[in-house]
Amino acid sequence: MTTVREIPNVQVDIPSGKKYEQPVGLFINNKHVDAVNGGRVKVFSPSTEKLICEVVDADEEDVDIAVKAARAAFQNDAPWRRFSSAERGRCLTKLADFIEQNLEYLASIETLDNGKSITLARGDVQGAANCFRYYGGWADKDYGQTIETDVTRFAYTRHEPIGVCGQIIPWNFPFLMCAWKIGPAVACGNTVILKTAELTPLSALVLTQFIEPAGFPPGVVNVLSGDGRRCGNAMACHMDIDKIAFTGSTGVGRMVMRSAAASNLKKVTLELGGKSPNIVFDDADLEEAAVWVNFGIFYNSGQVCCAGSRVYVQENVYDEFVKRVVNKAKSLKVGDPFDEETFQGAQVSKQQYERIIGYIESGIQHGAKLEVGGKPHGHIGYFVEPTVLSGVTEDMAVGKEEIFGPVLAIIKFKTVEEAVRRGNNSTFGLAAGVHTNDLRNAVKVSNRLEAGTVWINCYNLLHHQIPFGGYKESGIGRELGSYGLTNYTQTKSVHINLGMDLPI
Ligand code: NAD
Ligand code: MN
Repeated sequence: MTTVREIPNVQVDIPSGKKYEQPVGLFINNKHVDAVNGGRVKVFSPSTEKLICEVVDADEEDVDIAVKAARAAFQNDAPWRRFSSAERGRCLTKLADFIEQNLEYLASIETLDNGKSITLARGDVQGAANCFRYYGGWADKDYGQTIETDVTRFAYTRHEPIGVCGQIIPWNFPFLMCAWKIGPAVACGNTVILKTAELTPLSALVLTQFIEPAGFPPGVVNVLSGDGRRCGNAMACHMDIDKIAFTGSTGVGRMVMRSAAASNLKKVTLELGGKSPNIVFDDADLEEAAVWVNFGIFYNSGQVCCAGSRVYVQENVYDEFVKRVVNKAKSLKVGDPFDEETFQGAQVSKQQYERIIGYIESGIQHGAKLEVGGKPHGHIGYFVEPTVLSGVTEDMAVGKEEIFGPVLAIIKFKTVEEAVRRGNNSTFGLAAGVHTNDLRNAVKVSNRLEAGTVWINCYNLLHHQIPFGGYKESGIGRELGSYGLTNYTQTKSVHINLGMDLPI
């Protein structure tokens, strides 16, 4: 067995003038350790382009070590397996308490590393605490059924944990995604190895400081910072990981599923991208709809898998509505994410920023009209102005592909039929929005939209009690709510014979 060296925390400055202790090692067996090969990766702040620190970079051998730790923690006689379900729940609710006690500090780290505004980061951290606490509540409330089939026979079902769960998360909600993934997995009694995104490893490593104090035995929660193609791929291919949960791009999602199929057929859940339609009918409250349409695309700098990026507007209110959306977009404050007034911070990286600018240029080239924005904001950091393109069609890249930035594509439609048909004209099916004051129209249209979530007269509202996930190529499985538990349990049926006639 390779021995692993512990790694001390490093001091990091936050723009507010404060310093904090950042763990930088891989978190395995409740310790922060070095990678076998001593790899390091630099972490930058996208709002200043400055180096924050270096963290340990895990590769295949480190994945093996983490899997061994998680497997040992899942053995039948291991402490974790002897925890009552209520004790598991208590670890989660304690973790939620630690997060709330450190909310401001955690939010600052998220803003520093990801570039999102501090007000949004606070919401994410509170959302993570809520999610952990919620699944803490579920730990002792999810159990099987008794099924009586006959006077001499019955069966009971058990909701058993799956085992060692690999979890790969993206950079758009680095802290919140930890809660969506770790919360339900450990509530159900699994052990986990979570891999953070290369661009945003910091907040998850800070979370690991609370794992042992919350009462989790070593090996139950492990966190690796590492490259997707090496560390992430090693997880997807691993023969001793029982389940993999992935959130990120559709392309990588396909690879993860292929790797699972080619290795041990580990269970797979995927939460992938989208190009979600947000439909505004002519009888909607146009001012309210304009606000939700703005929030639907510009929230989190447009880096949201369920962003309402294709907005369909009925023809007789089209001009009026575009005007209102543009006015609202102009009023959004972009810039320093630590400024309390800022709504939209930086894009996560130079690469994402350039990709977004490229999409805007391509949209204009192909005949879309630039209504507002379209340019970088400022000279330092990866900021993009809130951008509205009108006159878009679904055959343009900006009308079809996920941009993952603050770019809204507006499309004109005439009839309800047309709105539904064009709204569904996508390989994705993550979310949709419907704005109308006609209740019947709202419900009928929602029923026909091929999307895992439909928002009526609102957009981008997520809640830990409400399931979330994709139709079509937007994913497999649901996270959050009671539905989220089914991804982390397997059902065993136990047949009991009370004395039926022998079959042969
Ligand atoms: P990505 O899919 O490459 O990254 C997501 C996660 O997958 C990261 O942790 C990454 O390290 C890991 N990963 C990468 N390659 C892997 C592999 N071969 N095997 C296993 N894991 C791997 O996403 P990206 O390149 O950072 O972003 C590209 C685009 O993906 C974005 O522009 C956006 O369209 C989409 N995206 C979607 C979400 C979402 O929430 N659904 C999040 C981030 C990005
Ligand atoms: Mn970063």
